[in-house]
Amino acid sequence: MIKHTSVSYYGLNYVEHAEKDFEEMKAHGCDTVILAITEFDMDFWFPNINEIVKAGHKVGLRVIADTWGIGKYFGGEQVSLFLQNNIHHRQVSALTGETLNAACFTSNAFRDYFTGICVKLARETEIDGFFWDEPHYALPRANTAISYGAGEDWACRCPECKKKFEDYYGYEMPKILNDDVKNFRWREALKTLADCSKTLKEIKPELEITVCVHATSQTYYNTELRGYDNWEMVAACPYFDVLASTIIDWTKPESFFKNITERTVKMAHKYGKDAERWLLGYSTQPEDFDQIDKVVDLYESMGVDRLGTWTYRGGLGTSCAAKDPIKLWDRIGANYKRVLKK
Ligand SMILES: [Zn+2]
Repeated sequence: MIKHTSVSYYGLNYVEHAEKDFEEMKAHGCDTVILAITEFDMDFWFPNINEIVKAGHKVGLRVIADTWGIGKYFGGEQVSLFLQNNIHHRQVSALTGETLNAACFTSNAFRDYFTGICVKLARETEIDGFFWDEPHYALPRANTAISYGAGEDWACRCPECKKKFEDYYGYEMPKILNDDVKNFRWREALKTLADCSKTLKEIKPELEITVCVHATSQTYYNTELRGYDNWEMVAACPYFDVLASTIIDWTKPESFFKNITERTVKMAHKYGKDAERWLLGYSTQPEDFDQIDKVVDLYESMGVDRLGTWTYRGGLGTSCAAKDPIKLWDRIGANYKRVLKK
């Protein structure tokens, strides 16, 4: 039974425009808007953010904050002020030692920065929750495409990670992904989100927290290199309310959609959380739009509790727009209206 239907939204600039867009979302069967909040928005548009949250509530939407692309730790096309303002605390390639263009999110500096943004949103706005959007370790070059096989290089082997590893395991952090490194990476990655989520729930217990992991399977999104692919470990974290797995390219076979959905639902429900599956509503659209109806039916039949779509109006006007953005948005909206149980 589908309990919630969401769509992401970039427009945090003018309240009266956002309100009109929110009405369009309602008309497309959405009950939740996920605000893609950038570091620039926090820095520049912050006075407006709560007005936009309130506009969402006025229209009858739940409003969730997505800390979009922050530090290039989360997924997203946005640029990062953390990287612009800091020359330290960056991830480092294990094999080449090259500094990467991503924040080391297990560093105290980044953890404080990221938690500070979230605490500000929790305290100073009426946001209903947070969405941890595709958190991940940087993939050193040549591994950046989503569906190539996992290469041998990985991150992060920066001085801070190396020290932390050695303090814990008693030997120098190796350059190969042995079991200690895998466990270290999983544990530190989870700690960043778990500690922040715990802090947020202490401020406002009713905040709902969704963790959205990459839909990793073997070489798709590079299992093991992202840091959140031990779904059991992620789902068991008591500070998350919803386990989501990210969008899947429409060209993937049905068996792939089934595999990801089955694992997402199983892990979420095992730990008493809602399971959320995402629809690719921008960029590459399905060849045949009937596939959207079929995938939505599949998700519902497999026990998915919530649906999410990236993004509003099929990404119209952005460099990631679908070929027929409005047609795509309308078809997803028709499906939302069809399946949302209220
Ligand atoms: Zn590091």
